[in-house]
Amino acid sequence: MTTVTSLASHSPATGELLARYTVDDAESVDAAVRRARAAADWWAGLGFTGRKGHLLHWKHVLVRELDGIAELMHQETGKPVDDARLELILSVDHLDWAAKHASKELGSRRVPSGLLGFNLSANVSYLPLGVVGVIGPWNYPAFTPMGSIAYALAAGNTVVFKPSEFATGVGLRLVETFAEAVGGQPVLQAVTGFGDTGAALCRSDVNKIGFTGSTATGKRVMAACAESLTPVLIEAGGKDAAIVAADADLDLAADAITFSAMGNAGQTCVGIERAYVVDAVFDAFVERVAAIAGRVRVGAEPQAQLGPITMPGQIPVIRRHIEDAIARGGRAVVGGPESVRPPFVHPVVIVDVPEDSEAVTEETFGPTLIINRVRTLDEAVDRANSSRYGLGSAVFAGRRTAIAVADRLHTGMTSINGVQSFATVPSLPFGGTRESGFGRIHGADGLREFARPKAITRPRFRAPANLLSFARTARDMQIPLRLTRFLHKKG
Ligand code: NDP
Repeated sequence: MTTVTSLASHSPATGELLARYTVDDAESVDAAVRRARAAADWWAGLGFTGRKGHLLHWKHVLVRELDGIAELMHQETGKPVDDARLELILSVDHLDWAAKHASKELGSRRVPSGLLGFNLSANVSYLPLGVVGVIGPWNYPAFTPMGSIAYALAAGNTVVFKPSEFATGVGLRLVETFAEAVGGQPVLQAVTGFGDTGAALCRSDVNKIGFTGSTATGKRVMAACAESLTPVLIEAGGKDAAIVAADADLDLAADAITFSAMGNAGQTCVGIERAYVVDAVFDAFVERVAAIAGRVRVGAEPQAQLGPITMPGQIPVIRRHIEDAIARGGRAVVGGPESVRPPFVHPVVIVDVPEDSEAVTEETFGPTLIINRVRTLDEAVDRANSSRYGLGSAVFAGRRTAIAVADRLHTGMTSINGVQSFATVPSLPFGGTRESGFGRIHGADGLREFARPKAITRPRFRAPANLLSFARTARDMQIPLRLTRFLHKKG
């Protein structure tokens, strides 16, 4: 077997060779983790204030370099330049939030000490894990890994980052900008390569893996991490549903759902892939979606609204889902199999597709939208929930109805009268249920994901009796027993 030592990065739009990168093998991954371990005490020792200063400096460098990184992202992934800019704006906002809130969310705080600990001061703090390995996908090559990187760094960990083979350049730029801001110490490093490099990171001496990618790879990552009981955070795929009620603002719903389904060429983990629309407004909704989807500009130029499919291997999957939906009775109202024109896929909207079709059950990851008719909102909720995924969802309805429906959806996140908006709010936890994974990035939960809780007790004064001692007498037990019977009696 020959060892692949270089990774060629090609433009998905033109096939042009953009760059070649080194492939890190297990030995060089281990060396990066050792360097990260050696830097971990320095970084943790800076404390929240010291780290905040460095992270905010990094933020300034990222803002300065924003256009250049957006251009590189456009070349590498094919996404329109403004989409790349938007992704970087969001990444910067999250970095800012993590840097500024780590102290409040993770710093030592006093907690109630309970009946038997009445004389104790009880404190909990959240300490760094050590070295965190982050494995990222290509579809949002800055925003997605940043959800782990920024929060893990703010929590006091050093990070070794494996970007996707389809977005290595962007991954390296993130690390270079950090090095410019922080200098010297290997607090954030990249290891580059294919899946084997990611697998080596899982088997290295990291304290946790933050993985974002497909469910299938997530299972392999878990299996590798299980060998050493390394904890993992899994942010995996989705099949997000939107529900449209009779009292929904149809113009808003059609605009938002079409953007969510087609934007970034449909390659969004929390993109809407299914819409369940109540009968009364079904035709009007479909008409609006068809009008918007039919106008979307597809192409390689920076101002196009949809770029190429980034990963060539996904194109046959998208084609199969479209063909299967139509073969099983679905009706294409925009596009069809002929919309698949590699490396592009033009918008496709199919209605009345059987619920067991692959286009409804599997992640398509292309600019396609399935719209199915339902009689009631209850039926919409049942169908939305009958997925093996549970990442995001959306509800378009009047306020009261929408909140009640949102509460019933078995997903990690729901946007009401909007799409994906939960991802833009740094203080909200982001993550899924079922085969969309577990654990959370973003927000206080995202910071705690990369920290270990540490509990400390200290006597504030001497208790009249020490119950945790062989010197304890039967009399010493009387007061706590009486108190327990009084405080915890029924009624
Ligand atoms: P993949 O699962 O193919 O790859 C994800 C990362 O894992 C890549 O860096 C990949 O490296 C690496 N990898 C591959 N094999 C292994 C292995 N055996 N051990 C360790 N690492 C490995 O996902 P994609 O990059 O194709 O990303 C798209 C997927 O990501 C979609 O399913 C999407 O829904 C999901 N996603 C989920 C998000 C969430 O927050 N829940 C956000 C964004 C995307 P390489 O690329 O070099 O093979």
